[in-house]
Amino acid sequence: MPGAEALREALAGALGDPGRVSTGESERDLHAADMTFHRPHRPDVVVYAASTADVAAVLALADEHRIPVTPFGAGSSLEGHVIPLAGGISLDLTRMDRILDVSPADLTATVQAGVTRTALEREAAKHGLFFPVDPGADATLGGMAATNAAGTTTVRYGKMRANVLALEAVLPGGRVVRAGSRAPKTSAGYDLLGLLVGSEGTLGVITELTLRLHGIPEQAVVLRLSFPDLEPACRAATAIVAAGAGVTRAELIDGWTIAALNAHQGTDLPVGPSLFVEAAGSAGTVASDLELVRAVAESEGALEVVAERDPTARTRLWAARHAAAYAVAAAAPGKRHRSTDVCVPLSQLAGAVSFARGELERRGLVGGVVGHAGDGNVHIGLMVDPDDPVELAASDELVELLVEDALARGGTCTGEHGVGLGKIHALEREHGDLVPLMRELKRVFDPNGIMNPGKVLAPA
Ligand SMILES: Cc1cc2nc3c(=O)[nH]c(=O)nc-3n(C[C@H](O)[C@H](O)[C@H](O)COP(=O)(O)OP(=O)(O)OC[C@H]3O[C@@H](n4cnc5c(N)ncnc54)[C@H](O)[C@@H]3O)c2cc1C
Repeated sequence: MPGAEALREALAGALGDPGRVSTGESERDLHAADMTFHRPHRPDVVVYAASTADVAAVLALADEHRIPVTPFGAGSSLEGHVIPLAGGISLDLTRMDRILDVSPADLTATVQAGVTRTALEREAAKHGLFFPVDPGADATLGGMAATNAAGTTTVRYGKMRANVLALEAVLPGGRVVRAGSRAPKTSAGYDLLGLLVGSEGTLGVITELTLRLHGIPEQAVVLRLSFPDLEPACRAATAIVAAGAGVTRAELIDGWTIAALNAHQGTDLPVGPSLFVEAAGSAGTVASDLELVRAVAESEGALEVVAERDPTARTRLWAARHAAAYAVAAAAPGKRHRSTDVCVPLSQLAGAVSFARGELERRGLVGGVVGHAGDGNVHIGLMVDPDDPVELAASDELVELLVEDALARGGTCTGEHGVGLGKIHALEREHGDLVPLMRELKRVFDPNGIMNPGKVLAPA
């Protein structure tokens, strides 16, 4: 690998613009870490790509000289994904931020990879449309595709994989490939689009995406439900889904997190296990769905059922839910965030959530349990001191136990955050038999191992 200065010069030459290649300390620091407890590691150089041609030039040069490349979107991933463990190039995609096309007739949008989800939301809304996948952060759509992200509306609209119709990607060496089409479905050959979605920057760099848009429902109402305990709250969430209510969101929040939200967001929510359930559609379907949700909640002993109909109140409620990670962080200043997620079959949700809450408390760790309950997804947000070996070991043990428990229940080690650095052992535990096949796939796309080394698969 050339020295940092020679690398900077070679990249500036390849891009024809020295202003988009930086070896500055602060730029490297900004690309060395995520918001979590994972230890930072600086890249040697940060490159800001402005076009697919830029990405191709960088990957051609990097492959020739065996220089590691870590793609960087908004840097909001939670398992150490963007940390350039082996140095090299952090390839920042945020300047590829053009919305290329919104087609109301096709219900599609085509965007460059650095467009953020809220930028697309603003543009799509002009046409009465929206893009549903909504992780709490204002992530880039390229990063969201790379992690196969999900969010509060997955129960109705699915994850990124269900909402990416086509993509353009650059492979190591600089080859540009396109997978998928603008048609609503395809059966044309192996699903390479599905493989690149969720590949966490380890196979190539996504440069463009064609995404599915959806019509904004005529009406939406949120029911805020509080329960005496976590288990009935979980049972209510799964019963609501099983009853066929057309809910667009079914979010679980434990009492600890509700208290943290009240303190951080200035809300006044009743402190206790809660569900926020949204029904959306025409006025008639919303009314009957709400009736169903209310009946299920009451049969599970709900203490309070409050309907939020006012759009501003609803927006405030979802903004608070999306801020859960920041509220957890604010509850333990000086510590670092550690977020982990597992996903279980719906019948196992109540057991998995109670287990998580119980084990967290037993270890005296600071944190909360939330979940996209409608899709069996359990999140634990902890605050840890990375310099306290006892606390760190307790959190490691907790994550390991949660994964073991989820697998024993027929679930998976991550429903949406992905593997990154933090879940490599968990992936081996879940899919040890498939890991050799995954390694072979990785070699086909990236024979020199330059793409985001040390993520998803342990170094060979
Ligand atoms: C407060 C908060 C709440 C969150 N809630 C959720 C949630 O509900 N659901 C959820 O799924 N996630 C959630 N996340 C995690 C995070 O927002 C998602 O993982 C998101 O998809 C990451 O997008 P990003 O643009 O930040 O990508 P980054 O973090 O920059 O990158 C993520 C990974 O993708 C790779 N990558 C980035 N861009 C590209 C590209 N163009 N081509 C190829 N590889 C690329 C990177 O190398 C890295 O491995 C949350 C995070 C925060 C901070």
